[in-house]
This record gives sequence, C-alpha cells and structure tokens, in this order.
Amino acid sequence: MRVLSGIQPSGNLHLGNYFAMMKRMIDYQESNDLFCFIVNYHALTTVSDPNVLRQKTLDAAMDFLALGLDPNKSHFWVQSDLPEVHELTWLLSIVTSMGLLERSHAYKDKTAKGITATHGLFAYPVLMAADILICGANKVPVGKDQKQHVEIARDIAMRFNSSFGETFVMPEADIEDDIATIPGIDGQKMSKSYGNAIEIFADEKSLRQRVMSIKTDSTPVEEPKPIKDNPLFEIYSLFLDDKGKQQLKERFETPGLRYGDVKKELFGVIWEYFTPYREKREQYSKDKAYVYDVLKMGAEKTRKVAQEYVTKARNNVGLNY
Ligand code: ATP
Ligand code: MG
Repeated sequence: MRVLSGIQPSGNLHLGNYFAMMKRMIDYQESNDLFCFIVNYHALTTVSDPNVLRQKTLDAAMDFLALGLDPNKSHFWVQSDLPEVHELTWLLSIVTSMGLLERSHAYKDKTAKGITATHGLFAYPVLMAADILICGANKVPVGKDQKQHVEIARDIAMRFNSSFGETFVMPEADIEDDIATIPGIDGQKMSKSYGNAIEIFADEKSLRQRVMSIKTDSTPVEEPKPIKDNPLFEIYSLFLDDKGKQQLKERFETPGLRYGDVKKELFGVIWEYFTPYREKREQYSKDKAYVYDVLKMGAEKTRKVAQEYVTKARNNVGLNY
C-alpha cells in the first residue's frame, strides 16, 4: 500500500499535526510504502518571508527525523525538489472545473481569516491533487480539514481517467475520528497560521505559557466540568489511552476540579512525552549536512516514481507528438 501525506512549513509543527498526521505516518512506515514530504510550494500561499520559509522547511525535516521517520524505509523529500509536480498540476487543471475549486472550505476559511485570495490559494487543491497522484498513493492520512481536498483529488483523477484513459490510482483519505480536528488553545481548529497552536518542540517556558492559556469556561470550582467542546479535556486526552481518558472524564465530572491544576499537570505530560524526541532533534540541528543529504536522496528516489506518472499522463493527453 502506498501511503502519502505532506505538511506545510508554514510555522512550527504542533500537536494537531503530530497526532493527526506525523505520528500516524511514522507508524505506517513499518508495513507500507511511505511517501512523506514537506510542502513548501503550498506554504508559499501563506508565508511571504523567504528566510522564514527556508528555516521552517529545514525545521520540519528535523522534526520528522527526530520523531522517528526513517528515510531509508520511506520516501522523504521537499516538494520543490520534485519540479515534475508542476507539469502534472497543469495537466490536471485542464480537467478541473471552477465549481469544484469554488466549493473548497479551506479556501473560504483562509480568506475569511484575512489571508489574501490569490490564484495560488485558489488553485491549492490542484497542486495537492498532483502531489498525491504523481506518487500513485492509495491512502492519505490527514486531519478532517483536508478531507475535502483529498476528495477533490479523487474527483480530478476520475475525470482525467475518464477523459484520457486509465492513468491514476484513486486515493482515499484516512482520517481517525477521535483526532479528526484537534482544538487549539482558543477552541478553534489548531493551526500554524491561526496563532492558537501548542508546538511540539516549544521551549519549556513557552510551552508552559501556551498550556496555561488554554481557554476554559467559567464553571465554578464546586460544579462538574463539561468535557464536550472543552479544549483542555480534548488536548489532554491525546496523551491518554482509553482507561486514562475514562479517568480524566471522571475527574472532570467530579466537583472541585481546578482547571489551573489540570493545566499544570498537562504541561508536565506534554513536556515529558516529547523529551526523548527533543534530544534527538538537538542532535540533528548540529548535523545539518546529514539532513540535506537525506532530503536530496529522498527527492531522487521519489522523482523516479513521479516521472513514470508524468510520462504516462503526457502521453495519454497527446503531448508526445
Ligand atoms: P496552516 O495553518 O498553515 O494551514 P496547519 O496547522 O493547518 O497549517 P497543515 O500543514 O496545513 O497544518 O496540515 C498538515 C496536516 O496536519 C494535515 O494532514 C492536516 O489535516 C493536519 N492538521 C492540521 N491541523 C490539525 C488539527 N487541528 N487537527 C487535526 N489535524 C490537523
Ligand atoms: Mg492547514
């Protein structure tokens, strides 16, 4: 099975990215053909400072390696090292109706949040479809916010196949219900670009500060606390197994619980969980040459797969005059 997913270097990676995508990808690498990449072309839709983009791209690569992505077992690369994806984007654009893109929730959400409505942001799903189809991916582990984009990719693949003959594999989104949308500290979807994220590799002081600012309701201490739409409960649950979650639920339902105490405890849990990875991350940050080598090797490996699909698509539309 080919499993593919990407992440934007549009900021520091956070708990939403980790639990909904990164951790699951790393788990999948053991028994699947993994394609994992850093989508810097996509990040250009929201990042305008070149130095920030460079830095965050390298940071994302080090994050993945530190968390356990094995570049020898998988395909691991940076999107812009695979220029073939643009040729495919154009070929796919030909069969993509305007209506399909106009229905994109992500586009509407981002423009509503003040991000400039550019052609790049509008065409984002076509580039994403090319990313997926160029590797022949079957399964795409993502958060719920990306579900529609994967459906758009399927739709585009279907139209291309029916217009020009069987060319692409039909991809499927792979979403885990429990963690489909992880809330940020304000209760909205945690996002790099919304300023509400808890970063996985934040330093101790900023992590503590972030966790202490998780929005809580004003239920009096002596009353039971709600667990629905309670970001503190939801974020804490990410670190617990079923039994742990049940115990946390009982604690919330028992009068007397103080949100401040739970936050302090949660800070400790997050800090400890990422400590071994943080140490590995330190080592990678001292050996950037290794990181560059890994990414170069990953792009070479992926280009072989990509070129096959692009050639097939070129031929099927008739560019091989
Ligand atoms: P941006 O704000 O720049 O869009 P992001 O935080 O949404 O950044 P992406 O790089 O767009 O992160 O997404 C990477 C992966 O993480 C995708 O699979 C996406 O579905 C998943 N993801 C991001 N945020 C969340 C979240 N809050 N809950 C669940 N999954 C998430
Ligand atoms: Mg996003």
